Amino acid sequence: MAPPNPAGAFFIKITVFHGFQIMIINRDIIADISRDMTEIRHTIHRNPETGFKEESTSALVIRILEKYDINITTGLGKTGVVATITGTQPGREILLRCDMDALNVIEDTNLPYASENCGVMHACGHDGHTAIMLGVATYLAQHRDFSGKVHLIFQPAEERFAGALAVINDGLFTRFPEIDAVYGVHNWPGIPAGTIASRPGPLMACGGSWRMVIKGTGGHGAMPHQTTDPTVALGAIITNIQSIVSRNVSPVDAAVLSIAHIHAGDPDVRNVIPSEVIMSGTCRAYDNNVHSMVFERLKEVAEKTAAVYNCAAEVEVQYGYPAVVNDSEKMKVAEAAAMNTVGAQWDGDIKPVTPSEDFSYYQQKVPGVFAFIGNGESAALHTPKYDFNDNIIPLGIEYFLNIVKLELN
Ligand SMILES: [Zn+2]
Ligand SMILES: [Zn+2]
Repeated sequence: MAPPNPAGAFFIKITVFHGFQIMIINRDIIADISRDMTEIRHTIHRNPETGFKEESTSALVIRILEKYDINITTGLGKTGVVATITGTQPGREILLRCDMDALNVIEDTNLPYASENCGVMHACGHDGHTAIMLGVATYLAQHRDFSGKVHLIFQPAEERFAGALAVINDGLFTRFPEIDAVYGVHNWPGIPAGTIASRPGPLMACGGSWRMVIKGTGGHGAMPHQTTDPTVALGAIITNIQSIVSRNVSPVDAAVLSIAHIHAGDPDVRNVIPSEVIMSGTCRAYDNNVHSMVFERLKEVAEKTAAVYNCAAEVEVQYGYPAVVNDSEKMKVAEAAAMNTVGAQWDGDIKPVTPSEDFSYYQQKVPGVFAFIGNGESAALHTPKYDFNDNIIPLGIEYFLNIVKLELN
């Protein structure tokens, strides 16, 4: 795999937009900053912290930002930090996002900077995302030849705890109401290092879980005519809900409705019809409306089918993160930013992936683009041998700087 940034190249790119503002991106400076950020990445990797507990990571971020004249806002989503960098000219405001949290995974990498917090590991590369964003802050703080403001959010708790929602609920968009676009990246094993990849529209799925309890009278197994039998109702419900994806979801959309667990009766008791059976499962889709529709139909089909058997179904649903849906206009900015990033290849037509990401909560407020930066042939995300690829740090920094150049000139 060729490194994304050939060593030794001195490169200055100058672009003039609208005839009045010039922003220069100097790759020698990016290379210098990236060396420092690689060290910082290793420090963060050595000290991983899980969602909403990123206190030392947050303190490290603040220490680095405090070296410069950067407006720092803390306390969003407990440990979240916003760095606001103001350009030399007035103008629009955009948001760049990274995440800081680690996972409950036992690291097995033998790296010199392996986790010293036993049972916790940066197995999703958020250490690398934080290092990239600190590199962007370091560069922009010293090169403010842009119009408007860049807000960089160092977000807590992406894994499981919806840190993005916590940050928003703590007033991100009321404190900074002028933000009108958002961009973020995630490293992606299996995509070549040096490739930046995304797609307009849905990129990552929304997911949710469901649980239903079907109730009847139950009774003596030898006298079923004197009972209402929830097990028979359950069998019909299992069959009937198969029609939701096949008959209610449009053929051009995608959804999954799976059963994961069923419980009925006692395995050692063979002459009792149970009075209650329980079933639970998961749902995935790439469109939040499709997801809601599947859950609505699940309730309706279960309740009406149970009624046919003189039973009752109670259905609980739980929504996870919404789908990551990229704005097609902002995708043109992301594409141009990637194309202008020296050493990067752009793939703007990848297939959507099934994991979820809480970046979607920002996209519900302002249009934006989430993109993957290839991590090369590394171990998979969330596995004990995974490690973030340090070679993509300069590429990530330059991609974000190109976004600033395109958006705020
Ligand atoms: Zn993850
Ligand atoms: Zn992640």
